[in-house]
Amino acid sequence: MDAERRIYRPGALAIAGSRIVEVGRDADLTDRFDAKQTVDAGGGIVHPGFIDAHNHIVHTSCRGVFGNIHDTSSSPINFADWKAGVTQHDEAAATAMACLEMLRCGFTMFIEPGSLFSTDAAAAAVERVGLRALFAPLYLWDRRECFEAMPALESPSLMARAPIDRARSLAQLDAELHRNDNPGALVRGYVFVYGVGTGSPELLQAAHTCARDNNVPLHLHAGYVPEEAKIYQALNGTSQVAHLHELGVLDEHTVVVHANALDETDEAAVHESGCQIVWCPTAFFSLGIGGRTRFKMAERYRHGVRVSLGTDGAFDCPPSETMLAAHLQAQTYADSMSPGALLEMQTLNAAAAAGMETDLGSLEPGKRADVVVRSPRAAEAYPDNNPVHRLALTLRSGSVDTVLLNGEIVLSGGRSTRVDEAETLRAVSDSVVARAQRLGIDLAPQWPMVG
Ligand SMILES: [Zn+2]
Repeated sequence: MDAERRIYRPGALAIAGSRIVEVGRDADLTDRFDAKQTVDAGGGIVHPGFIDAHNHIVHTSCRGVFGNIHDTSSSPINFADWKAGVTQHDEAAATAMACLEMLRCGFTMFIEPGSLFSTDAAAAAVERVGLRALFAPLYLWDRRECFEAMPALESPSLMARAPIDRARSLAQLDAELHRNDNPGALVRGYVFVYGVGTGSPELLQAAHTCARDNNVPLHLHAGYVPEEAKIYQALNGTSQVAHLHELGVLDEHTVVVHANALDETDEAAVHESGCQIVWCPTAFFSLGIGGRTRFKMAERYRHGVRVSLGTDGAFDCPPSETMLAAHLQAQTYADSMSPGALLEMQTLNAAAAAGMETDLGSLEPGKRADVVVRSPRAAEAYPDNNPVHRLALTLRSGSVDTVLLNGEIVLSGGRSTRVDEAETLRAVSDSVVARAQRLGIDLAPQWPMVG
């Protein structure tokens, strides 16, 4: 993923401490370096760790609970009530499990958008398993009108734990930024306001100022569903992203998440401002809005907008499906994207969304040694003529053999070197059952469970 997108075959990578010192032809590097330790990839693909630009990490614990989070009639509980029912223990367990899954899918970092109640416990889980993350303050919002378009995202129990309140939101803007005092921290802070019409101009501008003063990106959800856009327009007399531009909130360090339902003035604001976009294709498919929205991601990418890829909530799939889902969405709208474009979105552009493109997103001298080695034994790794295509579209979680984070091996032979995997996976299962019992819902599958 360097500027020329070079693929060395056979290639080698030299690491000293936590950083890459050289990348090149195998024979050249073997001659030049006398390594203390060598990892033989055996012909497998070696690539920069993928970065998930938008992942509500604890939502992995929704798996098998919801038919469709947006349709309360198909689920045993309102999604917002389920979100509000977590304990610190639940969040730590869900985060540890999701981190293990991410490593096995070739991811070494995710950006969490302010949906954790216990960020310290979750940060400890991330560091224990061995990933990077960006954390934001808990749900910053001060307007409720647009929730009418998204009833599953609001409930009295959730709003009791995270009140829709300007004073609270303003006071918590910088709540996670203390993490950045340590330049080597694996879990760093940034600013995320919930968005989708739930932020007043005052909150949005204060968030932007806070982010710029502290040299971190500002992210927010916008253009999620057409109904939200309609309510926003009626309330403000202008469409949402165009309004953000008028308010001075959009620049190259502002990241708009979703952007499924933007009108022409919004689209012009994206291009004029140079803001970034996070595309969450699996979340898009879950919304059922395909017939009422236009597909603009490929066009944005072609015109130089920095588009990165995110999962949103990994309810119904692991994060390794995101590039395939993006490919299928683009194909559906007959505006296809190359596998190379998808890889850029999951690496370099996602690193830019984190404000960390000088440190992450490619295998280049000087960058952090966050490196993934794929197994040459995976059947879907063949035929091996086009590694870009395989990496973006066919290689799955079982194909990851080794992961290095900061130059340290955190996954070897597809297994964590850091944590007891059986215990980690059991803990999340037990915590979901306990949460369901507390909330009085039945998690039994539709089909009879015999045993
Ligand atoms: Zn989200």
